[in-house]
Parts: sequence; structure tokens; C-alpha cells
Amino acid sequence: MTQMRRQSLVKFDAPLCETIIDAPKPQGREVLVRIERCGLCHSDLHIQDGYADLGGGKKLDTTRGMTLPFTLGHEIAGVVDQVGPDAPADLIGKKMAVFPWIGCGKCRDCLTGDENLCARNRFLGVSIDGGFATHVLVPDAKYLLDYDPLPTNVAATLMCSGITAYGALKRLVDRPRQRNILLIGLGGVGMMGLSLAQAMFKQPISVADLSEAAREAALKNGASFAYDPSEPDVIKRIVKETDGGFDCVVDFAGNDKSMNFAVGAVARGGKIVVSGLMGGQFSLPMVQWIYKRMTVEGFMVGTLEETKELLALARTGKIKPTPMKEEPMGDAQKWIDQLRAGKVVGRIMLTN
Ligand SMILES: [Zn+2]
Ligand SMILES: [Zn+2]
Repeated sequence: MTQMRRQSLVKFDAPLCETIIDAPKPQGREVLVRIERCGLCHSDLHIQDGYADLGGGKKLDTTRGMTLPFTLGHEIAGVVDQVGPDAPADLIGKKMAVFPWIGCGKCRDCLTGDENLCARNRFLGVSIDGGFATHVLVPDAKYLLDYDPLPTNVAATLMCSGITAYGALKRLVDRPRQRNILLIGLGGVGMMGLSLAQAMFKQPISVADLSEAAREAALKNGASFAYDPSEPDVIKRIVKETDGGFDCVVDFAGNDKSMNFAVGAVARGGKIVVSGLMGGQFSLPMVQWIYKRMTVEGFMVGTLEETKELLALARTGKIKPTPMKEEPMGDAQKWIDQLRAGKVVGRIMLTN
């Protein structure tokens, strides 16, 4: 029997703890992957907490359907270790990234390929066991993605921060009005968004972030303009300098401050895609919505097809690498604490 070592959530809102079990034997089209890398994502922190912040002291319980001990982690790349009797046997030994946003496979959304919308989803590391472990059981071989010749770390991060940024930007590609683009919030996903936006759009890309260091990093990485949302009268300046505001805006932060900034900066007839999950509550005067004729779309992760498109885009070499740091899997909790304290620059890649 293969032994499987996991950094487990044994209690919500409590530190992870190592557990060792016999690895499950893959059935049907299931596949057991030996994990080489798993990225640490901000949403792992929310899952450990067991709730999302709804603002005004209210919380959304996110523990529904999860059984403890539970394994977090959804930015997974590894080597196929075992396959079920109905999965292709020649996959064994292959290096693969694992698409984690897996649906039930039966509902309307799954049948049309929109598994990211599935209400009975089996998202790895979110609703079923994920990648802070030596192995992960993947429900179907079709979720394994060959990433050759990309580096393993890059392939793993494309599965969450990459596909989140790509999917959010894709929702702006076919807009009739797209003179200019603004990206708000330059964390891991936002920086990935900046890199992808330059490959996906011809227009200059502007950014906004409260951190001066983040703005400088963005300007060095191809942003045309960087705004400080805390600057007095910055919206007036933006409206003037851009002749009416931004046609396309992505809010990678997703709290009331970033959304107020987005609504101020968006041009008439423009669109805001919100993909950040910082939480809280946001309200808007009805007339402002209508006067601006604006569209707001919420977006979370992407589909298997979009992830394949993203891998193809990455293979063209057009995506600039984002900062990453490899750390031992056994130190997962230490790095969760560092991320909570805002002390992590770039992506922590947990390594077996
Ligand atoms: Zn994530
Ligand atoms: Zn489904």
C-alpha cells in the first residue's frame, strides 16, 4: 500500500496537522497523482477559517459538505502514480498539472463545460481533498493537463491564479468598448493578470494598488500608468486623463474600497469584472448604475477548456514569470501564517 502524508485541517480555524493514511486505490477513471508542487493561495486561508466575510459582522459558512480531516491546496502539479481500470494506463509516470475546478459531471453546467458553476462541485482542496499532501486522488483522468515544456511551478500556478486572471480578462475581450483597461489589486492574481493582459490586449494596461512597492513592480512589469486609490481626488484625475474613465476594469481585490474605486473609474457603458474575494459589503446608488450604463460581472476560476487555452498561451512564451518561492510541504502552516500576516511576496510553492 502507498502511504500518503497530508497536512490536514482537523478543525476549522485551527492550525493544520500532519496525518498519514493509506493512499486510496483509484477506481474507474480515477487517477492517483504523486504531488511535486502545490501553490499556497489566499483562498486556502478562507477555507481554513471555515467562513467568508459578508461585511457588517456577518459570515458565510463555507464548511458545507466538507468532512474533516480535510486537505487544502488546489494549485497542483505532479506525476501520475496509479490509474483506475478505466483510465489510460500509459499515463503512469507522466508529469501533469491537475485542473482542480471539477463539477459533479451530471448537471446542466457540467454538461455544457461550465464545471466552475456546478452547485454540487468537487473542487480539489475546496470541497474534496486537495494538494497539501504527498498524493491526490483525481476523479477523472480528463482533468490531467500535460504542461510540457513549461516549468512545474508555472504549470501549478496556472491552475488557480493563472486561470482566475485569464478568465476574468477573457470576459472583457469581446466588449464593443475597450479603449483602455484598469486592473485593481496587485496581489498574486493581479500581477498574473498584468502579465496576461499584455498578451491578450493591444491597449495600454493601467493598474491601481494602495502599495507603492506593488505599483512600482507593476510599472517595471509593463503597466503604462499606476494609480494610488488613496490619493485625494484621484477619480477626477482619472476621468480627466482618460477622457471619461476606463472601458474595462478588473477588480482583483474585491472589497468595498476597491469596488467604490472601480465604479468611480469606469467609463459610461463600461464593464467591471470582480474576481477578488477579500469580502465585505458594497452598495451603490441606483441612479449611478443607470447613469453609467455599466455592467458588473462576478467571476471565479475558469473552465477546463479555458485552462487548456491558457496553457497554449503560456507555451507561446508571452507570459512573464511571476515571483515564486519553493518551501517544504511540511511547513504549510508556517507559510499560511506568513501569508495571513501579509509577509509573503509572490507565490509560495509547497514542495515534496
Ligand atoms: Zn486559489
Ligand atoms: Zn455539475
